[in-house]
Amino acid sequence: MQVPFLSLKDVTEKYKDEIHEAAFRVIDSGWYLQGNENKKFEEDYARYIGTKYCVGVANGLQALELMIRACKILYGWNDGDEIIVQANTYIATILAISQNSLTPVLLDPNAETLELDVDSIEKAITSKTRGVMLVHLYGRCLYNEKIDEICKNHGLRLFEDNAQAHGCMYKGKKTGSFGTVAAHSFYPGKNLGAFGDAGAITTDDKEIADLVRVLGNYGSSKKYVFDYVGENSRLDEMNAAVLDVKLKHLDKDNSRRKQIAKMYYEGIKNPLIKMPTVKSDESNVFHVFPVFCEKRDELQQYLKEHEIGTLIHYPIPPHKQKCYKEWNEISLPVTEKIHATELSLPMSPCLTDEQVKWVIDCVNEF
Ligand SMILES: *Cc1c(COP(=O)(O)O)cnc(C)c1O
Repeated sequence: MQVPFLSLKDVTEKYKDEIHEAAFRVIDSGWYLQGNENKKFEEDYARYIGTKYCVGVANGLQALELMIRACKILYGWNDGDEIIVQANTYIATILAISQNSLTPVLLDPNAETLELDVDSIEKAITSKTRGVMLVHLYGRCLYNEKIDEICKNHGLRLFEDNAQAHGCMYKGKKTGSFGTVAAHSFYPGKNLGAFGDAGAITTDDKEIADLVRVLGNYGSSKKYVFDYVGENSRLDEMNAAVLDVKLKHLDKDNSRRKQIAKMYYEGIKNPLIKMPTVKSDESNVFHVFPVFCEKRDELQQYLKEHEIGTLIHYPIPPHKQKCYKEWNEISLPVTEKIHATELSLPMSPCLTDEQVKWVIDCVNEF
């Protein structure tokens, strides 16, 4: 039996008629940027996340970069000011900080929960700290009240990278609504994925929302008048229309992911395989299903021989990348271990129970 890591063809097939209808509506409208589709998706997504504002942008990296840049401008931060962030994340989170000439202060997460320990955040705060960035990696919520409290006590801004956690909840509120501002990616493989690159920010702060929109529109709030050195980062009408269709089905798709995860948690019984601690049902939307194995590469090869697709998220942590030579010598043992042992099993709302059982059987036989 073949089990692909993720088949986007199957994901699209599920809602094909509605998607075609939306796509043809945009094609026939003759209006492809900054129109009603974008406006409607922004309203619907803000309502879904539970924030006052949503601004569509071109991709997740620019959502991160522009939300930080807006804060840097509005709050008068200086080059070299610091943002505390977990070291085990996708490179985009770190790029967005360093592209703003701010310094990411990299922290190891807790090895069991993969969450940031409040003590380690507190210890990392200096006179230059301006914010804390939470990355809801793998679809797991990283927010808790203690982190909020630390930020408030120290006058820090809380940022969320919600690229992997659309629909994730904590105590009845969605991730993407906890901090000052949050960034979302709609890269095709995400839980809510577009047909190409797309992203958004969500916030309750009108000044930030307005400034992100201006910065992503060449720095212009009035046609041909430029107040900032901006960039071109807009969500196009076609992707906005498609995302609006898929948003309606997101909760249903996330519930299927949770069912599959439950099967994995209950079925996988192999002492060589470790799974992260279970979180409450609502606070994990399983963007991927990570397992940890000392013989990770052999496990991946073994599963490949059984026609099971897997991916590593991610093989090299940001601080060990060539682009960040200056941090290559920093020691972050938990992060390094995660990157050396992580393997993501197949996860998508389109997997059948039979496919999931086959993955479980093969993992247990390894
Ligand atoms: C996908 C992702 C991004 C970047 O999003 P793009 O739309 O690909 O630019 C940022 N952070 C995390 C955690 C991601 O998974």
